[in-house]
This record gives sequence, C-alpha cells and structure tokens, in this order.
Amino acid sequence: MSPPGVEVLNPRVRRGSFRAALFDFDGTLSLIREGWPRVMVGMMVERLRALNLAPEPDEELWGLVERFVMALNGHPTAVQMARFADEVEARGGVPDAPAAYLREYLDRLMAVVGGRWDALTSGRTSAAEWVVPDTHAVLANLARRGVPLVLASGTDRAAVRHEAGLLGVLAPFGEHVYAPADNDPTFTKGQVVDDIVRSLGLRPGELLGFGDGVAECYEVKRAGGVMVGVASVEHGQTGVEPGKRARLAAAGADLVIPDFAGQAALVSWLWGEVE
Ligand SMILES: [Mg+2]
Repeated sequence: MSPPGVEVLNPRVRRGSFRAALFDFDGTLSLIREGWPRVMVGMMVERLRALNLAPEPDEELWGLVERFVMALNGHPTAVQMARFADEVEARGGVPDAPAAYLREYLDRLMAVVGGRWDALTSGRTSAAEWVVPDTHAVLANLARRGVPLVLASGTDRAAVRHEAGLLGVLAPFGEHVYAPADNDPTFTKGQVVDDIVRSLGLRPGELLGFGDGVAECYEVKRAGGVMVGVASVEHGQTGVEPGKRARLAAAGADLVIPDFAGQAALVSWLWGEVE
C-alpha cells in the first residue's frame, strides 16, 4: 500500500536503501523565491509588447511564454534569458544581451525577495514559514540514516547559500551545495548528478531525487535513480499544484507529493521498511 498523500506514478518503483539524496532548492525546499514565474513571464510579456512583437491576445501570449519558461525550470536562470532572446529574434526583433535581461529580471525579483530576506534576518518571520512544509524533518530523517545530501540549484550560488542559511537548511548539505557561480549559464544538474554518481560510486537505483522542476527529474532518471516530484503550492496554500504535477509526470517522476508532511511514512516505504 502506498503511503498517505503520495501519488505513485510508477508502480514498479525501486524500493530499498538509497545511498544519496539530491534536492532541488527553489520550490522544493525554499519558498523564498515563490512567485518567480509571474515576475519572469511578466517581464518577457511586457518586453514583447513594448517591441510590438506580440500580436497574440494577453492570455495566449502569457501561456506561450510560461510554457517555455517552465520547460526550462531547474536550468540556470541565464538559460531562460537566452531562450527569451531567441524568442525576440524569431519574432523579427533585435534582442538585448541575455545578461541584460537577467539583470532586469533579478532587479524585479529582488524587489520581492529582498523583503523576505529582511523579515527572516530580523526574526519578524520564521524559517518554517518560508520552507515547503516539513523540509527540516525530511532532511533530518535522511541525515539520521547516514544518507549524503546533495543540493543542486539553477539559482546563483551565493544567493542559494544565503537563502539556505536563512532557512536553516544549509548545514545538512555540508560541502555538497551545487549551483552556478555568478549565474554561469554552462552549469548543469546533469554534471552534478554525474559527479555525485562517480564520487560516491553509486549504482543505478541508489540515487533518490526530490524536485519540483523538470531538469532535476530528467537527470535523476537518466542516472537510473528514483524521482520524487514535489508539486508544491505557494506559501500558505495546501495540496498539489496541477501544472507542476503534469510536467513532473511527463518528465518521468516515479512519485508525486505536495510537500514533506508525509515524509516519515514516505521514507520508510521507499526504504522498504513497510509494505
Ligand atoms: Mg525548483
């Protein structure tokens, strides 16, 4: 019987002990950057309109831009900006450098995220408010089992370290914090997975992945691992986010959870300790 609150997409999912667990950061553990798709898609839609490159009605244009942004969820942010520059060009415009789009996006996003940093730093809000529910519990559970924890994010490395520190989730990952330095667009989660498989000598099936994006899902499955899709909703809401669920299912996730509230039963089940 599957654990409560877990959707089993792959009934033949491997169960047994795992020798490493890889986590995405934004939307998987952290909610500090929630709302980023609205900010990114909003900027791109505005830019296309200002350049007179978008004849579509609002809803259609928003949907089109959102699809290519979310299809790259988990890749470095700079890759999403390069995709947008291609879109401008394909529509007959002259794009700015992707780095210029990245700066504008980060300025807009930080107008929102900076306030959350301040609230966490000053103690006006608690770390528990800005993590996916029971994030601390799942990390502690896996750490108690002696499973090396690996953090892999497409967000700038300095920001990931800062935000993970604010949320009290940096220490469990030790040296295994991987993210693009200075938004390096050549960073890939595939490289992180390959390095972990090699350095820990993992055999197929021994890697357990958790993430809300398609990039980590593809890479964990490519390495023969088991992927738990985290279809998290925003701060203060509950349940499974249907868009994320659909994308994770299409990318090959074995299981889907809304958050870590059921982590104790899920981990015992994955380890084959219960039926
Ligand atoms: Mg994510």
